[in-house]
Amino acid sequence: METDATIDNLRIDGDRLWRSLMELGAIGATKKGGVCRLALTDLDRQGRDLVSAWARSEGMSVTVDQIGNIFMRRPGRNNALPPVVTGSHIDTQPTGGKFDGNYGVLAGMEVVRTLNQHKIETEAPIEIAVWTNEEGSRFVPVMMGSGVFCGAFTLEHAYAATDTEGKNVKDELQHIGYIGEQKSGDHPIGAYYEAHIEQGPVLENADTVIGVVPAVLGLAWYDCTVTGFESHAGPTPMEIRKDALQVSTYIMQEVVAIARRYPPYGRGTVGAVQVLPNSRNVIPGQVKFSIDLRNVSDALLDGMNADLDAYIARTRAETGLAIELLRVSYFPPCPFHPDCVAQVRAAAAMLGYATMDVVSGAGHDAIYAARVAPAGMIFVPCKDGVSHNEIEDAKPEHLEAGANVLLHAMLASAVVAK
Ligand SMILES: [Zn+2]
Repeated sequence: METDATIDNLRIDGDRLWRSLMELGAIGATKKGGVCRLALTDLDRQGRDLVSAWARSEGMSVTVDQIGNIFMRRPGRNNALPPVVTGSHIDTQPTGGKFDGNYGVLAGMEVVRTLNQHKIETEAPIEIAVWTNEEGSRFVPVMMGSGVFCGAFTLEHAYAATDTEGKNVKDELQHIGYIGEQKSGDHPIGAYYEAHIEQGPVLENADTVIGVVPAVLGLAWYDCTVTGFESHAGPTPMEIRKDALQVSTYIMQEVVAIARRYPPYGRGTVGAVQVLPNSRNVIPGQVKFSIDLRNVSDALLDGMNADLDAYIARTRAETGLAIELLRVSYFPPCPFHPDCVAQVRAAAAMLGYATMDVVSGAGHDAIYAARVAPAGMIFVPCKDGVSHNEIEDAKPEHLEAGANVLLHAMLASAVVAK
């Protein structure tokens, strides 16, 4: 019989968490201290085997679904209740780090080890999920396992994805022995939490340990093509030119101006530009460039998109140039569930950690989990805000704090049996 006071005193073992992170990080370790463990490679299999073995040694059962998502389960008192799930991914970028994704899975493992060590029963079962191919580096789309799970795209679509060598997801899942029986998505979730390094500089700059994540930014991606007329840079008078690049620069400036009009989370980026014919003494005849707009709510992102449309229409009319704006990708903003956000906040407050709200600019499996269950995220700082890089680093005490918040947020959702 546990009292509330002793439950509040529960803490995870930060050293044990760190040792597990280093052990998993050794699989696919790179010379520069990072990790290269691409999805569905033999190294991914080794990582999955290690994590599953750890789960089994904690008495957890292990289930794999058709897209290779792994669910490791610690029973509760009432196993008819949907489990409280935490998790993330263990695949990495080619020059990835030891913490992105891996931390979320191993923080969950540390939660279970702590509960087992102190013989704490929960009312609802607790599970750790390892989602397949979150990074999208070897196979597109990104967040593949959680995407199939929530029905964002079909299993067949995911199976058919190929890498640069023409190998497909289904064969590679089979090859590493992680194509499971359970139908993807046929797996109830009561609540979902994901601990993750921030992958940005906000927490570190504010010297704050815990980021409460109210939402993930939605994004709209466009390809913009401006078509003018190629002619000689010398003989062609300024008045009669149709300079596709000059007109494009107006639009590029506007992309940034739009983002500034929708603070504090508006983002506007032109990241890729192609100038034709790209010759010093030819007036550019055509320019193609990308536009990336992001914000935290549908209303704000819709506003930004409408501003862009209006500006393009005006520029078309004023310049007489053909301007094509094609939306190529859209991810709606993902507000996390108020209950889960509140549990994270309450757990951090109980533990005495400084918190601040940090929206996520990057995609996470939690976005898809949020489509099928109440979900929330916990961020911890990473060194210089750097991720997707071999130098990615995080402080043991920050990782420990985040796992403690995860523990208490999960306990609150799973209701400790008394
Ligand atoms: Zn990640």
